[in-house]
Amino acid sequence: MMTCPESRLAIDALVDGEIEREEEVLLRSHLAGCPACGRELEERRLLSETLGRAFERTRDEASPLPGERERLAERMAALPRRRAALAGRLAAAAMIVVAVGIAATAATAGRPSSEQVAVARKIREQATREAQLGRLEEEVAAELAALRAERPRESSAAMAVDAAISSIERRLAPVPPPAPAVPGTSVAISVDVNGAAVEFVQRADGTVRLAVPGRTVEAASVSELTARYADLCRRFSVEGSEGKVKVGDSAAAIDLPGRFRLHALTGTWAEDAQWEWCRDWMKRRVPEAAEMERRMKEAQERYRRAAADFALPAVSVDLERILKDVKSLTGQELRKAAERAEDRVRSLEPRVQELRDLRGRARGVRVFAETVRD
Ligand SMILES: [Zn+2]
Repeated sequence: MMTCPESRLAIDALVDGEIEREEEVLLRSHLAGCPACGRELEERRLLSETLGRAFERTRDEASPLPGERERLAERMAALPRRRAALAGRLAAAAMIVVAVGIAATAATAGRPSSEQVAVARKIREQATREAQLGRLEEEVAAELAALRAERPRESSAAMAVDAAISSIERRLAPVPPPAPAVPGTSVAISVDVNGAAVEFVQRADGTVRLAVPGRTVEAASVSELTARYADLCRRFSVEGSEGKVKVGDSAAAIDLPGRFRLHALTGTWAEDAQWEWCRDWMKRRVPEAAEMERRMKEAQERYRRAAADFALPAVSVDLERILKDVKSLTGQELRKAAERAEDRVRSLEPRVQELRDLRGRARGVRVFAETVRD
């Protein structure tokens, strides 16, 4: 299922004629059930026509910022295809703003009204967010590339790092790859919770089934189950993570490599399993208990610091240039542009936060990989 923020990105791609087939199928099915995104598509088409006409008028006079084309080409070459398509879309949008800005210079003169300034500020906020989003995606991709290069040789540590990379990648890519189906059962618990028979199963492909009196629910992973059926899980005391679950007083877990595999399959985070493994690894090298605890604490503290929230990438978007563009808009277009910019900033916000979180996690996992390298 495509979320609204993902659908907004797909709409941009559709309008720009750069959408991929699988993405379009997902978008169409989202649009069928989401009137808000349907309206967004209509407005986006209208605005695109207006900007397109302006762009054509000025194509000959306008040129990208010095070095922009080269920087863009470099960034594209460094990114996987999907990401490149998105980065290209954002860069193209920025170039259109530049082009229209130059066109507007000749057409309008004089002081801008306070409404024009307010609208230009909103558009600048949108452009800033979009640029930051692109930069964040590149930064996460760069952290993952570094992580791959520093991947530990020891097999369980490598599995932990692979599980972490896979979980970050799945959240980075709008369409997660389908998990391969593996027969068999990983974890099964049948237990009585406050007089009710509760049965929990996590299969080898990561999917889970929870059966309570009168109701059976399924989910793609333990984390999805506990998020989607939070009340049900609370009521029947179901908690835990992939491959390690507790129902009432009963607990069941598969071995650590199995858990890493489930975390990788379901794209969930293996932080606790990762530290469990780290403790084991240290035990084999640091026989003295107090010294081992000190080193564990030190590693976890370094991890926490690396993963802590960092500032957003600094980008500067020229207000004057946007203002020139805004001054060529009619009153109605002005209101529409402001509304659109506000909506866009709002819809981008969760993704910006998510990417910040992913960047922090990738940095943290690099500290983990460093700690357990032989
Ligand atoms: Zn929607």
